[in-house]
Order: sequence, then C-alpha cells, then structure tokens
Amino acid sequence: MANPSLYDRFLECLKTHTNPSNQSSVSDIVFAQSNVSYPTVLENYIRNARFNTSSTPKPSLIITPPHEAHVQSTVICAKSVIPIQIKIWSGGHDYDGISYVFNHQPFIVLDLFNLRNITVDVQKNLVVVQASATLGELYYKIWNNGKTHSFPAGVGPTVGVGGHVSSGGYGIMLQRYGLSVDNVIDARIGDVNGRILDKESMGEDLFWAIKGGGGGSFGVILSYTVKLVEVPEVALHEAVDVASELDDGKRFQNGESFGGDVVSRRFRRARDAIGETASSARAKEGELYETTWVESVLWWANYPLGTKPETLLDRNLNSTDFLKRKSDYVQNPIPRSGLEGLWKKMIEFGENMVSFQSLRWENGRDSIRCDAVSSSGGESVQDSVLRDMARARNFDENSYEEGEVYGLKYFNDNFERLVKVKTEVDSENFFRNEQSIPVLPRK
Ligand SMILES: Cc1cc2nc3c(=O)[nH]c(=O)nc-3n(C[C@H](O)[C@H](O)[C@H](O)COP(=O)(O)OP(=O)(O)OC[C@H]3O[C@@H](n4cnc5c(N)ncnc54)[C@H](O)[C@@H]3O)c2cc1C
Repeated sequence: MANPSLYDRFLECLKTHTNPSNQSSVSDIVFAQSNVSYPTVLENYIRNARFNTSSTPKPSLIITPPHEAHVQSTVICAKSVIPIQIKIWSGGHDYDGISYVFNHQPFIVLDLFNLRNITVDVQKNLVVVQASATLGELYYKIWNNGKTHSFPAGVGPTVGVGGHVSSGGYGIMLQRYGLSVDNVIDARIGDVNGRILDKESMGEDLFWAIKGGGGGSFGVILSYTVKLVEVPEVALHEAVDVASELDDGKRFQNGESFGGDVVSRRFRRARDAIGETASSARAKEGELYETTWVESVLWWANYPLGTKPETLLDRNLNSTDFLKRKSDYVQNPIPRSGLEGLWKKMIEFGENMVSFQSLRWENGRDSIRCDAVSSSGGESVQDSVLRDMARARNFDENSYEEGEVYGLKYFNDNFERLVKVKTEVDSENFFRNEQSIPVLPRK
C-alpha cells in the first residue's frame, strides 16, 4: 500500500489533536496543492508580485483555522507529529514574503485569514483584535463605535495586525501616542507546545518580546488587546506637491508606477492633524483639507477625498504589485536642496528604481551619492545591514551566528534579551524565518 500523503497524515493528526467540538470542520481547512481552491487561497493574500511567480516555492499545505483550537493542533502536528516547517500568515504584507515563502525545505502555511474578529469596547476604552484583521478594518470598526477614538498604527489599510503589531507599528499618530505596541495591554499567543497564553501566563519577558521583536519568532499571535486613543472630530491636512516644483513638468500622481519620465510621489503630510482644531492650526502653504478622522485614514492611503469609510473594509484580495521597499531613519533633517537633489536623481534613474536603494544625500556637502551607504550612522538600518539580511536568507536555521548578523544591527540593545526569551520559549527554533530571532547555541 502506498504511503499516506502529507495531506492525509496532517488531516489525521489535526483530527486527533483538535478538541472534539472543533473537529467536524477540519477537512475544510486543509488545502493540498491538488485542491482546486489551492491557487485562490494561496494568491488571495500574496501582496507582492515578486513572490507570486511559477518559481516561487509553494507551501505543501495551507491550513486556514477558523478557531484558535485549530492553531493549537496545527502547531502540535507540524512540530511534533509530522514534522514540517510552518510559516505564519496574517495580512501578507511582509516585504520579503517570509509569511508564505520558504526557500530551504518543504513547508506549510498557517493562513490566519479567518481569525479577524474585532471587539470594540468604548466604555472600557479597549479593543480586542484578532491577528488577521487588517488595519483598515480596525480603524473602521473603532470609528463605527465612536467618532473620537482611534488606534495608533500604520497607513496601509490591508496590512495585517498580526505582522504589523509584532514589529512595532508606526503611523501618523506616532508623535502623540507612540507606536502601536505602546498601546498594547494584553495578547493571546499560541506557543510551540500548543498552549494558548495571555499576558499573565506568558510572563513579562515574552509579552515584551511580542511587542516589537518581529513576527514569526515566538509563537502564533492570536489577538492583541489594545487601548483606544482620543482623536479630534476634525483633522486638518495640508498637501505639499513637491513634484510641481521640478523642471520639465515631470511628475506622477499617487498610485502610478515608476517608469519613463515619472518621478516623484505627490508628497503629503498631516499638519497638526492631532490635538489641534481646524481653527487653531497654522498651515503655511499648500491646499488645506478638513476631514473626519476616518476620512484622513483613507486620504493617507491615497484614496480621494469623499471616499466612503466602508472602503476600509475591502480586504482587496488577490491584488499584487511588484514591491521592493527599504527604509532608513533620517536623524538630521534633509533640507529642501537635498530633497530636490534626491527627486532629480530618481528622475534620472527612471524605471531602474532599484538603484534608489543606494541613494544618499550627503549632509553638509549638498551632493547625492549612490554608494549604498545610509546617511544616518550606526543606529538605523543601513544598507550594509540590508545586504546582510539578504545573506541571512541562506542561513542554517539553528545558527546563532547568522541570526546575529541581522539581529544585532536591527534590534540593537534589545537583541540579547530577545534571544534569551526566544531560547526560553522555543529552544528548538521551531518558529523561524530568515529574519527571526535565533536561539543560543546548545551547550
Ligand atoms: C503597503 C504597505 C504599507 C505599510 N505601511 C506601514 C506603516 O504605515 N507603518 C508600519 O509600521 N509598517 C508598515 N508596513 C510594514 C508592515 O507593518 C509589515 O510588513 C508587517 O509585518 C506586515 O504585517 P502583515 O500581517 O500584513 O504581514 P505578513 O506577511 O502576514 O506577516 C509579516 C511577518 O509577521 C509574521 N506574522 C504574521 N502574522 C503573525 C502572527 N499572527 N503571529 C506571529 N507572527 C506573525 C509573518 O510570519 C511574517 O514574518 C507596510 C507594509 C506595506 C507592504
């Protein structure tokens, strides 16, 4: 008799390890590559076309738990029974596709898209949000419950809460209310042993680690409990159109791709959007817009003014774009001349925007260089670090040294504590990816 397939073995395992009340649905949540729905399920939340090609490694199975209990049994089966590498997938916006791609060995994906419930309690000033809810859904649900409440998080409406909050989460309320993680008061996580832990049972160190230590290292985030913050009913925005000041009339508007003579994004910022009313805000230049808070979320997401708030509920399935994005933190303000020089260099590069990764404005010398060095010194993510990151993609999964190359530079002084937590909660390094926190070498 032929050996049972991975699909059969996994299904059997899930049935054995899922509590009886949730067993009936098990066969509906496991998608083998031969399943006619597999391509749709896979492509729904791939957000980057770079990882949606015929040569992109594909998961052997996709598991789509509707209940936390299925997350527990999936982890038990993948770690101890089958065993097989697991990837954790919430919103799918990882820049390197590491929530659904693994280059090293067969893998399965835990696709959490069914776990996206949001419970808003304005009286208690808190929200319980499951991992796969999007930021857009979160903003909308909060707005629907109270027009002067919100949550400080990022500007991409389809970004998933699971990956976003795990890695910090910054947005336009950063200066006033901090990062998303500064407003997290509890969490539920499925650990490597199939247990579900909350803040109290996971302990202070793990609770700290899952608020900025990055997704995919410590367990499966099931939900975060977060504080609501106050926002004014009216937000005032100013539009600054940098492109119009450049020569040749070269410009592009939001949403257009780079190419030909297309150069710069219509640059926008909220001036005094928080904390000041429209009448007291002093905007010096550009067009001014008054919006409700929720409209400003849409505006930042490049929707035109007047877009219905319900648009935030659109999970925008099966929509991919080619994306390569790297960030650096500017520690000294770049003057206008520096910005203009950068825009002009971007025009020069045109379609070949990959070169933009190494653009540098040289502080004080008013010149642009393309030498793959960050302008902000050692405390930020430098291009050299990013190259290390790429190298780390070939890592031996148990190698502390390789994980350290990226980790030390990215997490700075927090790295050693993160490694300590990781070693305590997942000593066999089951939850791993190319950027995850490594475990200490075994003695
Ligand atoms: C268009 C766009 C806009 C963005 N805007 C902002 C912004 O304004 N501010 C900002 O701070 N960041 C922003 N980001 C970055 C974004 O926050 C991160 O890429 C984030 O990790 C994406 O989360 P996700 O759940 O959508 O992604 P996923 O691809 O699903 O996950 C990202 C990582 O987290 C892990 N992970 C996901 N879910 C879980 C879970 N439940 N438990 C454990 N690990 C998990 C994955 O395995 C993967 O390693 C943006 C990214 C994009 C592509």
